[in-house]
Amino acid sequence: MLLLKNADVYAPAATGRADILAAGGRILRIEPGIRLPQAYVEEVDAAGLIAVPGFIDGHVHITGGGGEGGYATRTPELLLSDAIRGGVTTVVGCLGTDGITRTPAGLLAKARALDEEGLSTFMYTGHYAVPVQTLTGSIERDLLLIDKIIGVGEVALSDHRSTQPTFEEFARLAAEARRGGILSGKAGIINVHMGDGRRGLSVLRRIIEDTEIPATQFLPTHIGRNPALFEEGIAYAKAGGLVDFTTSTVPAFLDEGEVKCSAGLRRMLDAGVDAANITFTSDGQGSLPDFDGQGRLRRLDVGRVTSLFAAVRETVRTEGVPLATALRVITANPARILKLRGKGVLAAGADADIVLLDAESLEIDGVIAKGRWLMKGRQPLVRGAFE
Ligand code: ZN
Repeated sequence: MLLLKNADVYAPAATGRADILAAGGRILRIEPGIRLPQAYVEEVDAAGLIAVPGFIDGHVHITGGGGEGGYATRTPELLLSDAIRGGVTTVVGCLGTDGITRTPAGLLAKARALDEEGLSTFMYTGHYAVPVQTLTGSIERDLLLIDKIIGVGEVALSDHRSTQPTFEEFARLAAEARRGGILSGKAGIINVHMGDGRRGLSVLRRIIEDTEIPATQFLPTHIGRNPALFEEGIAYAKAGGLVDFTTSTVPAFLDEGEVKCSAGLRRMLDAGVDAANITFTSDGQGSLPDFDGQGRLRRLDVGRVTSLFAAVRETVRTEGVPLATALRVITANPARILKLRGKGVLAAGADADIVLLDAESLEIDGVIAKGRWLMKGRQPLVRGAFE
């Protein structure tokens, strides 16, 4: 058993100073003044630390992605230590542009590997393309038969790399995902890669208007990638749509008009968007091409899952968004939207996924996943198999 004493608890709502008792991978109790015989419990003084739910990163290319500059630009797999350093205890893996050399079977194997190494993992079936290339022959079968598959993605829209799906094709895809989700008790959500194309969110808006499929069936990502998509995203979210910001970026993207996650969240809240409709994901292990002023490729960088909490921290420290509100976009919101039970909250009965933050600097001090210490006193305690 693990007893964290005197932590300042954000569940993610601020609930004040309390002790957290965990055993068997679950949180048993959260209340002040818990006392147990020393022989049965590892007691840790968490005074000066803020306890928050382990972070959920809902869009990570865990098997690597990229490849858009040829084979040499295929990006590497996610390392366990990157997730630990970023406080990420739950990961949703996905494929991107490449659905030939990257496969759902490989993604499932990597998700299982990270699970064995201590994280909680899920995955999307498919990649950019429509029709969706599944693991078992159909989206519904994947959702019903493969525990880790919670939806479809990332399917590309309004992008030169998409398969240019028609409205009918995309509506049918959404319908299959919806039925599979209903029958399996999962989200069945479609993670939609939004490109820079002028059509923006129009296909999603039309499906929501013209069919019976609700807005909650879609989680469009990269919503801050350009000013036009961001503005459309505000209207879309105010009308009940869900929107996801990508935290991995490079200076060149921001120079070209990408809306920074911290400023984007602040502006959406100021515009009256319900905070419950917004999530952040890292796009970790995706490729980030860095171009010089003449548009020449300078170097390729790789998205990092450590950018996830860095963006939330920046939202608190530079945009003045309350910690409890900012935390929601990587904890309670993705847990609810993706139907990840026991995740994203600190509460009795929830999984013992806990991140400890320094109360002054908001730096990550400790990480506990499924009740096990992965980082303690800023020192990583666990490494991946080949690290
Ligand atoms: Zn994408």
